[in-house]
Parts: sequence; C-alpha cells; structure tokens
Amino acid sequence: MGNVNLVSGPATYRIYRWLWASLDWLFPPRCAGCDTPGNRWCPDCVRKTTRLPAGIGADEEIICPSCGAPVKLPGFCVRCQETPPAYQAVRSWGEFGGPVRNAIHQLKYKRDIALGDALGQHLIDLLRVLGWEVDIVVPIPLAAARRAERGYNQAALLARPIALALGLDYSPGAVLRVRETQTQVGLNLIERQKNVKDAFRGNTKLVRGKSILLVDDVMTTGATLNACANALQAAGAVHVFALTLARAIADPERR
Ligand SMILES: [Zn+2]
Ligand SMILES: [Zn+2]
Repeated sequence: MGNVNLVSGPATYRIYRWLWASLDWLFPPRCAGCDTPGNRWCPDCVRKTTRLPAGIGADEEIICPSCGAPVKLPGFCVRCQETPPAYQAVRSWGEFGGPVRNAIHQLKYKRDIALGDALGQHLIDLLRVLGWEVDIVVPIPLAAARRAERGYNQAALLARPIALALGLDYSPGAVLRVRETQTQVGLNLIERQKNVKDAFRGNTKLVRGKSILLVDDVMTTGATLNACANALQAAGAVHVFALTLARAIADPERR
C-alpha cells in the first residue's frame, strides 16, 4: 500500500469532505439520481441500484475472478480463459441503469466534483472489501477531443477522492491517450478492441514497479480498460486492478 503522506492523506481528505458538507448546508443539493432535494446522491437511489458481487466470501464462485462477469461454474469465464485480460481484476459497484445512469450523466455533463466525491464513496468501500494492494490511482483518460469540449474527465472526479481517502498517490498522467479513437457507443466487442488497440501509452517513470488502480465511470465490454492495462503493463506496472462505478450488463458483452 502507498504510504500515508501529509499532503494527500486522510487529514486533507477530512477537510475536503468537511468543505462539501458546509457547502451542502449553504446550498442544499438535489439528488443526481432522482432530483429529490436534500442529498447529492440519496439513500433511496443507493437502494434502487442493483449491486454487483465483489466476488469474495459468499459470492466468490458466482463471478469470474478476473473480469467479474457472472459464471455458471466457479473459475475464469470462457472469454478470460481464451484471452486473458491485461488487468488482474475489475469490479463494479452497481448495474448501469436507473438512478446511477442519471448520476453518471450528471457527472459527465456538469463538472460536479462533490457528486464525484459522493459516488466515489462506493468505490472506496468496495476497495476496502476487496483488499487490493495498490500504490497509485489512475483515471481512464478521456479522448483529447472530448476532453477539450467538456473541459474535464469524469473518471477523474471519481478517482481523486479514492486516492485522497486512502492516502494513495493520484496519478492522472500515468497513462495517456496517444491516438484518437471513435466513440465506443454502438460498437461490438471486436470493433471496440480494434478501436482502442494501441490508443494508450503508460508513463514508465510513474508506473514502473507499481500496483495500479484504474478508475472509470462505466464499463461496457472492458475493451478500454484492457487496452489501458496493457499499456500500463508494457510501461512496467506490476499489477493493474480496475474499479468502475457501474457496469452495463445486458450489452454487446454477450453478443
Ligand atoms: Zn435519489
Ligand atoms: Zn472473465
């Protein structure tokens, strides 16, 4: 695990959270999932989101230990057996849809840092349950064109509070997009893999010998995560784990 340091460690995190709590008191927020006033992300929406198994303890045998897809027999899924992914494991907090879809939409189109913090809590809890040993937290980089038009990366809004809460290094420059890709929307798995192949490059100085936690908002086929993990491994990372807030379940993945 990364060392707790005074600049990014939990003390800073407590101040950071206190600041949001004060702002909420001054300007009461509305829920990003259901628009009810009072919370940025309300307990009702948390309850309504279908949670996905972490794959440990009681639900160890129901998902693939690597990609997290549901399996009928314990062990790696067929896809991971045929083509082992570059990452060690990926887990997601909830199924994409309903309130979590609304919340992610808001995260994408409104630079809501406090919402990123509220949603990031789920990933902090999940990481604690999983017990993955990671040194640095890295958001999946956004395509330059989309970043230019939006001005920020929504994955970073989730990744930063995780690093702060756990006293880990936050390293958005650890992996960069080196080639523009078209949007993954509407592409099947093979097309997605082709689209993102060699699109990323890891920064050896930042990742060599490190255990990395990649963070993204939504996982669909996992092609982007895998391409990023590949680039990080090529740059000398020892382990690459990944967390996403949501996962699209009934999707091209099964086609
Ligand atoms: Zn709500
Ligand atoms: Zn798998």
